[in-house]
Amino acid sequence: MGIGAIIIVGAGVVALSTAYDLLAQHPATRVLIIAAELPTDPASSWTADYASMWAGAHYRPIAPSTPQLRAEFALAQNTHRMMKRIARDKPESGCGFMGAVEYMENPGERELQLKSRDIFAGEGDGFRVLSPEELPDKVKWGCEYDAYCIDTQKYCQWLLHQIQKTGQVRVLRRQLSQVLDAFEAAEAVNFPKAKIVVNCSGRGFGDPKSKIVRGQTVLVKQQYHKSVTRQCADGSWTFLIPRPNMGGTIVGGTKEEDDWRSEPRESTRKAVLQKAVECFPYFVDDVSQFEVIRDNVGRRPFRDGGLRMELEELDGDRRIVHGYGAGSRGYELSWGIAGKLVKLLEQATVSRASL
Ligand SMILES: Cc1cc2nc3c(=O)[nH]c(=O)nc-3n(C[C@H](O)[C@H](O)[C@H](O)COP(=O)(O)OP(=O)(O)OC[C@H]3O[C@@H](n4cnc5c(N)ncnc54)[C@H](O)[C@@H]3O)c2cc1C
Repeated sequence: MGIGAIIIVGAGVVALSTAYDLLAQHPATRVLIIAAELPTDPASSWTADYASMWAGAHYRPIAPSTPQLRAEFALAQNTHRMMKRIARDKPESGCGFMGAVEYMENPGERELQLKSRDIFAGEGDGFRVLSPEELPDKVKWGCEYDAYCIDTQKYCQWLLHQIQKTGQVRVLRRQLSQVLDAFEAAEAVNFPKAKIVVNCSGRGFGDPKSKIVRGQTVLVKQQYHKSVTRQCADGSWTFLIPRPNMGGTIVGGTKEEDDWRSEPRESTRKAVLQKAVECFPYFVDDVSQFEVIRDNVGRRPFRDGGLRMELEELDGDRRIVHGYGAGSRGYELSWGIAGKLVKLLEQATVSRASL
């Protein structure tokens, strides 16, 4: 089936994975990416709104305890399969496979029911529930499994390079006021035949259901070899996310709802590093040993009710395929989202052809 010419708004992990999957399945498609920010921009210019540049990123499976989490669970499993292949075949992508450990001070019913050898992250993940002797003080439940970690900036640059190599992709830097402006912007640069826009703008152009959760983390030079997460009884989180290929380790982090501060807080940096020393004493002995490379501040693009993945029919023969609102899970759901958006694009193309 021919897909023709498609405009994709956004150049975060969701947009780039969608473009990649679209071109893998429909190589003759012509794609115009329109985005205010790109992964190839100088790092100093990325705003906190460009969430993909500031993510950890690791994959932490979440038990499918609600309809939304059940849908996300399927997207995460698809993504896990693809990331496993990328880590194996394309280590230069910034995606790497490694051990992961979870500690919970206050586990939920779903975690307590899990048994070793259950599938947690994805097939063949070596899932094992830790014995009480293996748990640190105050931790009531823990497990280990194999999963991927991503050097996010490198990975998005790699994705962009892969799709540009096909010769089918043009990139236009443009801040749009509304998603519909993408059609005019495309016409203006002589990309005239596109009747479908894929909206991967993160927060969806003022969707009232969109909201942000600020995250602050620290990239340190010290290299850890496993992704480790501890959920504390007070609701806070402490984690280490190694960046593959000796890219250092992300120490995190915060989840601050509706906090729009773009600059890092010195007090937060201190608290995050101190907590990491307390929770993971085998990483460094003392805060003063950390060699800080950079503070990261980003706004996670949350949406009430979860991701919007939907085909919107406009008047005439124009369509929008929405794909935004990935919250704190954009990387770990990315290939699942991309697959779903490509299906919606196929559906949009069929419905247009039958007009
Ligand atoms: C501190 C932190 C840690 C995180 N850790 C993880 C993790 O471990 N695992 C995980 O899976 N996820 C993690 N996330 C979440 C993840 O970063 C997001 O879910 C993901 O990046 C969302 O990707 P996106 O492509 O939807 O949006 P974005 O990355 O925000 O990209 C949006 C794109 O749309 C463009 N755009 C937006 N508005 C306009 C406009 N008006 N005109 C033109 N272009 C526009 C932007 O320029 C950009 O190119 C973390 C996030 C943060 C902040």
